[in-house]
Amino acid sequence: MPINSFPSHSFCYDMRMFFDTHVHFHETDGDRGIDDLVTRAAAAGVNRLVAVGGDCPMNRMAVEAARRYPESVWPAIGFDRDQPAALAMESGGVATGLERLSDNVRALRKQGVTVAALGEMGLDYHYSADTADVQKALFEAQLSLAEDFGLPVVVHSRLADDDTLRLLEPFADRCRDAGRSPGVLHCFTGDQGFADRLLALGLLISFSGIVTFRNADPLREVARHVPDDRILIETDTPFLAPVPYRGKRNEPAFVTGVAACLAEVRETTVEEIARITTDNARALFGV
Ligand SMILES: [Zn+2]
Repeated sequence: MPINSFPSHSFCYDMRMFFDTHVHFHETDGDRGIDDLVTRAAAAGVNRLVAVGGDCPMNRMAVEAARRYPESVWPAIGFDRDQPAALAMESGGVATGLERLSDNVRALRKQGVTVAALGEMGLDYHYSADTADVQKALFEAQLSLAEDFGLPVVVHSRLADDDTLRLLEPFADRCRDAGRSPGVLHCFTGDQGFADRLLALGLLISFSGIVTFRNADPLREVARHVPDDRILIETDTPFLAPVPYRGKRNEPAFVTGVAACLAEVRETTVEEIARITTDNARALFGV
């Protein structure tokens, strides 16, 4: 058969390569957890992901996943909003925790591991408004570390939009002066006003499975208007699986559900969503 009689699509039938920018691996899933999830993700076309920490066990797992899959997994390490109390109970407290975080970033870089970002970090006044002051202090300290390392940050914000923006602003200004992006607001569930202020600071906005939920019309309306060069997708594995996988334990392979929803909302193709979100993630995380 002459070569030109092959249907042309057989050479490019799958241009969809997805980048899940927010995956938590848990120690309780065991060693197979990482291998199973990364393998199933690759089979679904999700061939790049950021393994995100937030406490010591998750930071360890993020690094372990990146070591095993250096071509497709990069770690973000840091301390989440519930960590001030946990760190305070260790000897040396928060200061020692931050020193250890810096040492880890330096050690990883020395070993040739590309650290994608610091995080996740941020503020959550839904679950723990009573610890607002220590949350803000830990967030601010990590923003300053990120600046020292020239790394973007992965930010969580729940019912804390004003404080999040106030703390991000000076960091974002300095990032702009340095010609780089400050980072991403992950699992965005805010309104248009919050999105506009984040975009003005230079941040990217990442949508999770929540954007696919039946009652998420206002969120989909925000997602429709995020500029092409500022949008990311994520699963936030293992939580909140997107439609059509609701009820299952979430995993990176399911980020295709988020992409399909955004394609519909933004009146474009899944391929195009895969392409722009992958380009944006690679540029932000330097991978
Ligand atoms: Zn997370």
